[in-house]
Formats: sequence, structure tokens, C-alpha cells
Amino acid sequence: MSEIAKPALSRSTVDRAAIRRLDDAWLADTWADPRTRVLLVEDGRTLVDAGDVAARLVFFSPDEAPEGERYLLGVDDATGAAYFAVSAELPDIEGGARPSGLRGIGALLNDRDAGLMVHAAALQLWHARHTHCPRCGTPTRVTAAGHVRVCPRDGSEHFPRVDPAVIMLVHDGNERCLLGRQPSWPQGRFSTLAGFVEPGESLEQAVAREVAEEVGIPIVGTRYMGSQPWPFPSNLMLGFFAEAGNDQIAVDAEEIAEARWFTRDELRSATEAGSVGLPGVVSIARRLIEGWYSDSLPGSW
Ligand SMILES: [Zn+2]
Repeated sequence: MSEIAKPALSRSTVDRAAIRRLDDAWLADTWADPRTRVLLVEDGRTLVDAGDVAARLVFFSPDEAPEGERYLLGVDDATGAAYFAVSAELPDIEGGARPSGLRGIGALLNDRDAGLMVHAAALQLWHARHTHCPRCGTPTRVTAAGHVRVCPRDGSEHFPRVDPAVIMLVHDGNERCLLGRQPSWPQGRFSTLAGFVEPGESLEQAVAREVAEEVGIPIVGTRYMGSQPWPFPSNLMLGFFAEAGNDQIAVDAEEIAEARWFTRDELRSATEAGSVGLPGVVSIARRLIEGWYSDSLPGSW
């Protein structure tokens, strides 16, 4: 079992420049700076020029950007360029760029673009779903360069929410790991177990509860392995290796249709033969499985 590789959506190079979010003069000057780059984002998607092995975001100048909620993403310390996102309908543009989401192209972006797009998508999806004050129902307004909403009636401030979810590769402490198939997935598609953290629960408790609920197995040890934002719309996936106390699987058919133990050899053979498909390289699930396996594995769904 080795350390997991950095998840695809946990990469970034741009300084978030949080100290600038309330600096209206700096924000106005920066919006007028021709070096400033703007990403348009709609329903978590942006315009992307994607090939088979690499993809790049399509940026606009502030002059070209349509009206819309504006979010400061940060400043590239290397170039001095600032990056904003604008929530707007994505235009048709000439060339190969298409509206794309992080699930499809997140792993193809470079570190800078991956970080910018995750930030932009997560903010835009939160704003779109949190337009009114949860206390009094009044429409809220955007402030702090897109990182806070304020209620004009009662003054309450509302921050972008992040919903923690645990995702765990259950193993037997030796040569086997456990993977499950959700009821909606086709035969042969397997992944790690996962679930939301409930109010008042620690991460370790959430890991143990979810594994017990889904496959009836007690957990005797958890080891944190890393995290990745998963803005569909607002999750933060917290990845663990979880050691099973026994190997007696009893699946909860509502959440898991099938669960199986795999030795490393069985997992290698099944993925090479195509009888088992693992989650895509953009997912932390894939990182956990390959971290346990200590190498890359073929194929994905
Ligand atoms: Zn209010």
C-alpha cells in the first residue's frame, strides 16, 4: 500500500488572493487590466479545448466577458495576471472549444487550469442554489468578490458550503480489498464505498457507519489518505484506507447491489480482461484503489 497520487482536482497553482476580495479599488483596477483573464461558467461547465491527452480552458478578456456574477479566482504570482469567473450562458465560439464539465476533462487540464476550474465551478454551483437568505427568505446579494452572500434585510452573511463525504478503500490488512457496485451501475463496474458525513459525526465514525450499513463489515482501523474537491455540486471527498474486522459481506441492496473481495492478482486479471471496470482517473476512488494496489491498473468506466 503506497501513498496515493495527488488527485486530479486537488491541483492548483494560482494564489486565491483572499485578501483582495474586499478591496473594491483593487478589484476595479484589476478588471480594467488587459492581462486579466476571465472564465465563463454555466451549470459547473466552462468552454474547453479538449484533445485526447490534454485540454485547456478558454479564457476571455474582461471586455469580452458578458454581464454576470463575478468571482475572483486569484492571481498568478508568476505572471501577475488575475483570474475571474463570470456566471453566464456559454457562447458558441469558433474552433474546437466545447462546454465541458470536470468529470470529463478534469484530469486532462494542467495544474493551473484544474485549480481555476474547480474553484469557478464550485462557486457558481453554490451561488445558483443559494439565492435567498435561509433565515428570512429575502434575496441575498453577492459580496467579497463572489465568496460571500449577504442578506440586505437582516445582515446575515452566508458562505459557500462544502459538504464532506468519506470515501474508503476497505481492505483486509493483507492481500484483499473490497469493492462494491451500486444498483444503477452495469455489471462489472466496481468502486470504493462512500457516503456523506452526518451532523455530529467524526470522519472515522462516518467511515465505520457507511461500511457497516453498505456491506455489514466492522472497521478496526482507518488511515487518512488525502482529499479532493468534488463540486457536483459541493462535495469534498475525504479518502481513507479502512481495515476490515472480518470478511463477511452482507450487502444493503438499496445502496450496494453487489460487493466482492479482490486479491491484487484478481483485480489485475479482471481489469485487464475487462470483466471489471474501475472509476475514472479524475476520481479519488481510482487513486485509493491504485494506492492500495501500489501501481496503475488498466481500464476505466
Ligand atoms: Zn435574511
